[in-house]
Amino acid sequence: MAANLLFKGGKVVTTESTYRADVAVKGEKIVEIGTSLKAGAETEVVDCRGKLVLPGAIDAHTHLAMPFGGTITSDDYEAGTRSAACGGTTTVFDFILQDFKEPFPKAIKRRDKLASEQAVVDYSFHLAVKDVSNGLLNTMEEAVAMGVPSFKVFMVYDFGVTDGVFYQTLEHSKKIGALIAVHAENNEMVNFLTAKYLSEGKTSAWYHYMSRPEFVEGEADVRAIQWAKSLNAALYIVHLANAQGAAAVTQARAEGYPVFAETCPQYLNFTSDVYKRKDGAHFVCSPPIKNKASQRALWDALKRGDIQTVATDHCPFLKSEKKWGAKDFTKIPNGCAGVENMYPYMLSEANRGHITFNKAVEVCSTNVAKIFGLDHLKGAIEAGRDADIVVYDAKKRFTVTNRAMHGSTDHTIWEGAELKGYPEATYSRGNLVYREGKFYGKKGAGRFIKCKPIKLTSPELNDNK
Ligand SMILES: [Zn+2]
Repeated sequence: MAANLLFKGGKVVTTESTYRADVAVKGEKIVEIGTSLKAGAETEVVDCRGKLVLPGAIDAHTHLAMPFGGTITSDDYEAGTRSAACGGTTTVFDFILQDFKEPFPKAIKRRDKLASEQAVVDYSFHLAVKDVSNGLLNTMEEAVAMGVPSFKVFMVYDFGVTDGVFYQTLEHSKKIGALIAVHAENNEMVNFLTAKYLSEGKTSAWYHYMSRPEFVEGEADVRAIQWAKSLNAALYIVHLANAQGAAAVTQARAEGYPVFAETCPQYLNFTSDVYKRKDGAHFVCSPPIKNKASQRALWDALKRGDIQTVATDHCPFLKSEKKWGAKDFTKIPNGCAGVENMYPYMLSEANRGHITFNKAVEVCSTNVAKIFGLDHLKGAIEAGRDADIVVYDAKKRFTVTNRAMHGSTDHTIWEGAELKGYPEATYSRGNLVYREGKFYGKKGAGRFIKCKPIKLTSPELNDNK
């Protein structure tokens, strides 16, 4: 049971400002923010002098215990959320892959059983749509009522949806308070280019990038946005990684359409050159990491507000599994670990002056809560919200090594990355879950977060009522 806490002497960071204040927590909630708050007899004081006090990050994109490419991601709900907690992330969204013929509410129950037993911090879900035939489309509404109002369609993979089904879900989403998210790449081009390179004996990890280059993603972004615009339906592009897509999102928003985009730290920090490395397979994810021009465009869009969120696409596989593609890049399971690295990386970028701390909080927490309908509970240091709090030490230096991580994966693409500043402690609803390298949380302590229905009617995030 959470004790009463007083976070004393730190600087609170919001999207708008950074100010000196004490934060009082009673049980699981933030109850008061003010100067010179006094601790009661049973209050534990957390000394935050010289530290920043931040809302826990919300990772809108993880794949825990997910079957893919003949295996399953190496972090289950326990390991994935433990890793999250140790990187200052206090809520994760996991994708539930609907089975063919499966009603959406059934899919939620199937996965929540697992998650509720294992998760150490709070979690919610997005539904990944495979099948809306035979009345299944109408079960979306029940999922919204259960607190899962976001649905993702894939334009690629063998389970990806047709253009018609994508359009149908967009149209339906408007009526039921749902948000459609999309993995945008051109499937035909991926298949064609993949076959071409393999037939030419070009099988290294570099050809993963070459078979899904800039335009393969950019064209699909443009197409997806076109359909959303035609319906004036809200659209959220997951893991945006290319300049053309960023430009299309920017234009749609300037025209007043409710188009939103997420990018990931791996796209902000690395370029496609990583696929030429000996360990190139470790970086194989889809969409692949793009060139320097795309990386610059992503940062610019993020700074302008045309990319609203940063999430990880945490989808870890073991080294031995990544080796399956040593002679054929199509056999490399797609995905990288990252849930423990996102907030520390974005905050380090802020600490180096690349963005503000306010911006890091906005894209890693506050905007995610607003877009996905959980801002009544999460996403800010504010009275009434859950006490999901990170104490951040801007003076600490931290070198990422897999040994220092807390998931179940045996490598990290962030190995050797030097960060300026690092989370010192993480609290989940008032409970300490991480402090100075050590995990203190409990399996099963994480709760399912019921999201509100989503109505994003203009680019102004405030319209999410
Ligand atoms: Zn993903």
